[in-house]
Amino acid sequence: MKPAGRALHDAARAVIPGGVNSATRYVGAPYAFTAAEGAHVTDADGTRYLDYHAAFGAVLLGHNAPVVNEAVARALNGVGLIGMGVTPPEIEMAELVAELIPSAEMMIATMSGSEATAQAVRLARAVTGRPLLVKFQGCYHGWHDSVARNVISPADRAYGRDPLSAGLLDEAVDSTLIAEFNDLDSVRALYERHPERIAAVILEPIPHNVGALLPTQEFLQGLRTLTSEHGSLLVFDEVITGFRHAPGGYQQICGITPDLTAFGKSMGNGFPMAGLAGRRDLMARYESDVLLAGTFNGHPVAVAAAVATMTYLRDNPDFYRRTHRLGTRMRAGLEAVLAELSTPATVTGFGGVFAVYFTSGPVRGYRDLLRNDDEAYRVFHRRMTDAGFLMLPMSLKRNHISGAHTDADIDLTLETARDVLKSMHTDGLLPGD
Ligand code: PLP
Repeated sequence: MKPAGRALHDAARAVIPGGVNSATRYVGAPYAFTAAEGAHVTDADGTRYLDYHAAFGAVLLGHNAPVVNEAVARALNGVGLIGMGVTPPEIEMAELVAELIPSAEMMIATMSGSEATAQAVRLARAVTGRPLLVKFQGCYHGWHDSVARNVISPADRAYGRDPLSAGLLDEAVDSTLIAEFNDLDSVRALYERHPERIAAVILEPIPHNVGALLPTQEFLQGLRTLTSEHGSLLVFDEVITGFRHAPGGYQQICGITPDLTAFGKSMGNGFPMAGLAGRRDLMARYESDVLLAGTFNGHPVAVAAAVATMTYLRDNPDFYRRTHRLGTRMRAGLEAVLAELSTPATVTGFGGVFAVYFTSGPVRGYRDLLRNDDEAYRVFHRRMTDAGFLMLPMSLKRNHISGAHTDADIDLTLETARDVLKSMHTDGLLPGD
């Protein structure tokens, strides 16, 4: 760590456990940040980085996008938080969500994706009167007890009991059953074992919390059919895919409509806005016996950011053409580098999202990812960071191209990735060296 980062590290550690406010934020150096603009962030020592981390994907248009920040500035001098009734922009936001997201007839606003999925689980249990939830190994849906298990699990705990935290209620953890992504039989088996007990199946339609497992159409269609046949709800967690891949999320692309959709992250381009949307008859339960509460729900500043972001995305289809084109260039470029250097790795992604798995493909489900070389990724990540490129610190996670990245950024990234991988071969850090 450089001097300013080190000083802030010591100060933070004295008053913030671990020195960070979310468990996976600590990456060593760079540690503390003081500025962000477009596709770049600057650390406390003045070093500028090209940012593909993008706040775990919350920043979609680029840091401090003027179109969002100007709307936020106007909102700051507006109504403020009243805590009674509703404000006109909250209605505008819900109308936009209903216009853009195919499954959305009504929405509730929350402050985070975790709250949105917690509401999805509660509503599904209320509607079906059933206790169990099915999630997929590798998907992440937030930090609450019902879903905080089996994300990036080591081989000996994958598909078994792998809670993400101490202190979870056993009954909540054990009420969530684990299936394999892209494997309908694994879901059928759970329905056979627990007839009429499963309230919902929840999934990231593209599990970006392990890079990008690309769903087969047959799998998504099969889940739609299975859940309907068994009287369960299908819940798409579009906290990452929502707004990022298309204005209506991945459901707009695949043409499969879930019962409920959770969203958040990039919806407010970095401001804390999230929510749950779905069919009117389901959401109507919030009008009778399902509790929705939250002092800051629908906060005017975050609502202004979300309305500005969604309006921009709706009115600028070129945003998607551009980020998808840059994503395709990045993935093709990385594939060419891997082929040139004979590196045993696989490139994956969708739209403006890309990731490198340090295993040879094909990768269809989490089982294939158990072969990933985490140590190789750790070295790759460290050397890319030291060269000025910020990527997600965890092996198997994804990287994000925002509206502020350019073709020149992609060229520079590819050149650097080539140098880094070459240095790893030279140092004998990759299999076959
Ligand atoms: N769902 C998905 C797919 C996520 O990736 C995340 C966060 O990374 C969440 C839910 C939880 O969202 P939040 O961190 O806003 O609580």
